[in-house]
Amino acid sequence: MAVDSTLLNTMRVAKETVVAIEYTLKDDQGNIIDASGERGPMEYLHGAQNIIPGLEQGVEGLVAGDTKNVLVPPQLGYGEYSEKLIQLVPLTAFGANTPQVGMRFHAETNLGMRVLTIKKIEGEEVTLDGNHELAGKTLHFDIKVVSVRAAEPTELAHGHPHQSGGCCGGGGCGSGEASGGGCCSTEEGSEGGCCSTEEPAAQKQGGCGTGGCGCS
Ligand SMILES: [Zn+2]
Repeated sequence: MAVDSTLLNTMRVAKETVVAIEYTLKDDQGNIIDASGERGPMEYLHGAQNIIPGLEQGVEGLVAGDTKNVLVPPQLGYGEYSEKLIQLVPLTAFGANTPQVGMRFHAETNLGMRVLTIKKIEGEEVTLDGNHELAGKTLHFDIKVVSVRAAEPTELAHGHPHQSGGCCGGGGCGSGEASGGGCCSTEEGSEGGCCSTEEPAAQKQGGCGTGGCGCS
C-alpha cells in the first residue's frame, strides 16, 4: 500500500514559516564547532534574519525529513576577520575585575554593541578582539529539517518563533532584533540573560531584545 502523499506534511521552507533543524557545524578541518545535539533542534522564523544568511539560503525549499550539507562562506556567515576589531586597552580599564585570556563580554564599541574576547594580556596591556569567533571561517553544516510550519501572526510581528515558554524559552533566541545587550548567552557574560545558556553558533547574535522580548 502506497502512502497517500497528500496526507503528509510537505510544507516547504519559505518566508513566513517556522523551521526546526538539527545541525552539526564543522570547520574546514572537519572539527565539530557546534551541534544542536542535546539542545534539541534549533527553531527559527525563516526570512526574518534569525540565522546566518548562508544557512538560511541553504534551508530554503526543503521539507521536513530532508538532510543537506550546506557550505557557508565567511561573507554569508560571520563576516571576514578584521584587524580593525583588535584593540589594546590598559589593564586599569578593568578596574577591580581581573581579566583573563579567553574571557568574553559585551561592550559598546564604535561599531555598536559587540562581544569582545580577551586575546592577550601583556604587562599592563590587554588585547581585545571584537571579531566573532567564527569570523573568517568557512562553515560546513550538516542539517536535517525536523519540522516546517506556517508562522503565527504574533511570530511574524515579533520576527521570531514562539515555543514552549515564550520566545525566550526552549533555546529560541537570536531574533535578529536590534538589541543592545543581547540577552541570550550567559557564556558571553551578558547581563540579564533570559534565554538559553548556550547560544547556538548558527544563530545570529543579539537575541531577544533589550531586557527580553516583551512577548505577551
Ligand atoms: Zn516574541
